[in-house]
Amino acid sequence: MSAVSAHLAPLNVERLRRDFPILSQRVRHKPLVYLDNGATTQKPQSVIDALVNYYTTENANIHRGVHYLSQQATFAYERTRGRIRRFLNAADNSEIVFVRGTTEGINLVAQSYARPHLREGDEIIVSQMEHHSNIVPWQMVCAERGAQLRVIPVDDTGELILEEYEKLLNPRTRLVALAHASNVLGTINPVAHIAALAHQQGVPVLVDGAQGIPHLPVDVRALGCDFYVFSGHKLFGPTGVGVLYGRRELLDSMPPYQGGGSMIQKVSFEGTTYAELPNRFEAGTPHIAGAIGLEAAIDYLNEAGPERLAAYEAELLDYATGALSQVEGLRLFGTAREKVAVLSFSMEAAHPHDIGTVLDSEGIAIRAGHHCAQPLMQCYGVPAMARASLAFYNTREEIDALAAALCKVNEVFS
Ligand SMILES: *Cc1c(COP(=O)(O)O)cnc(C)c1O
Repeated sequence: MSAVSAHLAPLNVERLRRDFPILSQRVRHKPLVYLDNGATTQKPQSVIDALVNYYTTENANIHRGVHYLSQQATFAYERTRGRIRRFLNAADNSEIVFVRGTTEGINLVAQSYARPHLREGDEIIVSQMEHHSNIVPWQMVCAERGAQLRVIPVDDTGELILEEYEKLLNPRTRLVALAHASNVLGTINPVAHIAALAHQQGVPVLVDGAQGIPHLPVDVRALGCDFYVFSGHKLFGPTGVGVLYGRRELLDSMPPYQGGGSMIQKVSFEGTTYAELPNRFEAGTPHIAGAIGLEAAIDYLNEAGPERLAAYEAELLDYATGALSQVEGLRLFGTAREKVAVLSFSMEAAHPHDIGTVLDSEGIAIRAGHHCAQPLMQCYGVPAMARASLAFYNTREEIDALAAALCKVNEVFS
C-alpha cells in the first residue's frame, strides 16, 4: 500500500455504486460493466437531482433579472464558480470561465490567446499523445498565421521524451499545450516540470485536463500551468458544460472569443466596451443547469475524498494490468510509471471493433477505435485500439468479467 493510501480508510465501493443508478442496469441480459469512462462518466443521483431541482424550482436566466428566480439562479451559478475555483485551487473566481467543454476551452485559447500572438515562423509545441481537440485548434491558427506545430515524441512505454521537449523549446515558441493525462495511454505527464521549463523562456502552458481531473487531485498553482481545461461530463457531471481556468493576467490581456449578450459593458454603434472577467468570455446564455450539476459532481467527489478515490483507482489499475497481461495474445499500449486507470490494447485474434462487439454481448462497455488520437495510432503503427477506462466505481469483479470475456474473444476467433 502506498504512503497515501495507508492512512486513508478504504473505499466502500459497493456503497458508492448505489449512488449511480445506471450501474445497476442489466445490458444484454448481463449486469452492466461500464468501462468506457474515458469517453464519458456516469452520474451520481445527486447530480441528476441537482438538474431536476434546478428546472423544477429555480429556472430563470442569470445576470439580467431583478426578479427572485433570476437572483436565485445567478446566485447558484456564481456559487458554482467559487466551488470550481476551490477545487482547482485557483486564486480568484474571475479565473474560472464556463465553456461547453474541453474542446471549446482549447479553441477559446487558440483564438483569443494564440492567434493574436502568432507571427510567421512562430511555433506551438504539443505532444504526440494529444487528443484531436488539442491538435486541430492549434493547426487552424498556425495555418492562418504561418506558424508551425512542433511535436514532443513519446517512447515505447508511452512517456514523453523530455530531452526532445527541451530541444524543441526555443525563442520562437509561443505556447506549450499538452494533456495532463493521456486518454489512450493513461500516461500522467510531468506537467509541473514541463511548465517550469517553458516559463524559463517566458512561454505559457495550456493543460488539457479532460483525463487528468477525473483521476487526480488538481492544484493549478502547484502545477504552475497558465490554462487548464476540462469537461464536466468526464468528471461525473453533465454534458455541455466545462471549465477553462486561465491565469488572470493572461485572461485580462485576451480579446473576447465570441460576441453577444452578457459579455459587454456598453453597446453602441459607435463602439462597444466589454465586461470584466470572467463574463467577457461567457457570451450568451450559458448552460446554467449544467454548471449547477457540475457543482453537485464536485461536492460528491469532495465528500468521497479525491485522494482516496485516486488511491483506490491506482490499486484497481494494478489489478487490471495483471489480469489483462494473463490474456493470451494481448498487447498493452502504455506502461508509463505514472498512469491513470486507462488500459488500451490490441489482440492477435481479433480487430478492436470485434473485441468491442464480443464484450458488448457480455454487457461490457469498452471503446474501440482511434480514440481521437490518430497521430498516436500512427506512432504505434495501428489503426485502432480497444480501451478499458476505469473509474472509482469499478470493481475487481468487473475486471475479472473483462478478462474472462477477452478469453472468450480468443475462443471465438481462434
Ligand atoms: C474527451 C477529451 C477531450 C475532448 O473533450 P470534449 O468533452 O469532447 O470537449 C480532449 N482531450 C482529452 C484528453 C479527452 O479525453
